[in-house]
Amino acid sequence: MSLTGANLGATGSDGHQGGRPNDAVVEWFDSHCHLQSDYLADEEGAGGQEAETHREPHATRLAATIARASEAGVTRMVCVGTDATTSREAVDLVRRMARADSVATAVGVQMWATVGLHPHDAINGVETLDSILGAELPDLGVGSDAGSAVGSDAVSAVGSDAVSAVGSDVGSDANNPSTIVVGIGECGLDYHYDHSPRDAQRAAFAAQIGLAFRHRLALVIHTREAWDDTIDILVATGVPEHTIIHCFTGGPEEARRCLDLGASLSFSGVVTFKTAVEVREAAQICPIDRLLIETDSPFLTPAPHRGSPNEPARVPLVGATIAAVKGVSRELVAEVSTRNARASFGL
Ligand SMILES: [Zn+2]
Repeated sequence: MSLTGANLGATGSDGHQGGRPNDAVVEWFDSHCHLQSDYLADEEGAGGQEAETHREPHATRLAATIARASEAGVTRMVCVGTDATTSREAVDLVRRMARADSVATAVGVQMWATVGLHPHDAINGVETLDSILGAELPDLGVGSDAGSAVGSDAVSAVGSDAVSAVGSDVGSDANNPSTIVVGIGECGLDYHYDHSPRDAQRAAFAAQIGLAFRHRLALVIHTREAWDDTIDILVATGVPEHTIIHCFTGGPEEARRCLDLGASLSFSGVVTFKTAVEVREAAQICPIDRLLIETDSPFLTPAPHRGSPNEPARVPLVGATIAAVKGVSRELVAEVSTRNARASFGL
C-alpha cells in the first residue's frame, strides 16, 4: 500500500468507518508505535537499508503518516525505542516534531518518545542506553546513585523478597524533567524468539525496571511466552507506578495477574483478529481505567487491513473493537484510553 502524501485521503478514511457524526471531537492516543526510518514503509512496503536509496525520504513518509493520523483523530502518540539506535532516533524525531514549524505541530499532533532495549537486543546491554538517558534526563544522570543497584541485584534475587522495597525507596528528587522521553522500554522477555539468551533478557529487563524507578518514568513491557518470569521479576524488583503491558496478548488469567500487580494493559490490533478470543476476553475484564490502546505500527495491522503496514491512523479500529467488546461507545474508549495514557506517561 502507499504511504505517500497522494494517498492521504484513501488511507485516512480507515478511521472513518461506520459513520461518525461527532468524530471531529474524538481524539485518540496511540500509546505505542514505531515511526523511525526503518519502520516507515513506502509504496513497495520495503524495509531495510538496501532499499533506502529507492525510497522516499523518511521525513516525507513521516509527514504523510502524521497527517493521516491527524485526519483519523489520532492526535497523540508515543514513538518507542527498542535499542540505542532506535531510541536515539525516536528522541530526535520527537524533538523535531515538537518545533513550532513542524508538520506535526501544523496538524495538531503531539509526540513523545521512550528509550529502551527490546528483549531481542538484550545482549547489547542496557549501558548502551546510558548516553541517551544522560543527555535527555540530565538531572537524573545515569551516574547518580538513586536506584542504581536495582537491575543487577534484582536478577539474582528473583524469587526472593530481597529487593521488593526498591520502588518505595527511590528518592524524592526523581522528578522527570524531560518533555521528550516519557517512558523506559520496550523491555521485557521474549521466549518465543529467544534472539538474546534468556539470562541476558532477564538482566536487561530488571535493569530497565530500575531505570523506570530512578527516572520516575512509565515502564513499557514486551512479554511473549514468558508470563511467569515477567511477573516474578516484577515482584522481585517492585512494580513502577506506571507499568504498561504493551500489546497485551494474554487471556483473562494473565490479565488478572498483571492487573493485580498494578499494571495497565495496552491492547493492539491483535484484539481485532478473529482468532484472538482470549485477548478480547481479557479486554472485557480489564477495568476501563487500566486500559490503553496502541497500534505497535508498523506491526499488527488491525482487521480488515491485515497484510498491509500498520500506522497510528489505525488506532481507532482498535478502539472500536474494545468499545464493542465492552459494550461502551467509541467516544468513551477514546476519552478514557487517552486519559489513561496521559496519566501513565505523565502528560
Ligand atoms: Zn513495539
